Amino acid sequence: MDSFGSDVLIQVRAKCGDCGGVGVVQHHLWGELFRQIPKPTDAQVSAFFLRKGYLGDPPPEEISCPTCDGTQWTEEWVTLRALHEMLSMM
Ligand SMILES: [Zn+2]
Repeated sequence: MDSFGSDVLIQVRAKCGDCGGVGVVQHHLWGELFRQIPKPTDAQVSAFFLRKGYLGDPPPEEISCPTCDGTQWTEEWVTLRALHEMLSMM
């Protein structure tokens, strides 16, 4: 049984770990701003994004999660053998 399940694929659907299953993440520039200035004023927000090259409105604070494309789920195909090994470690 060495090759048990190695030629069977199973689709595993899981909550996205990168966004915690909510489908959105914080834009990295907003994260950078809040690390520099925890509670920025509107003027500080405008000045920060102007320095980053945003001449008009700043980008949205929350963007669709790039890992799950905002679906909140990730899907991957794994072999039955790999799944069996994962489950036996739980
Ligand atoms: Zn996600």
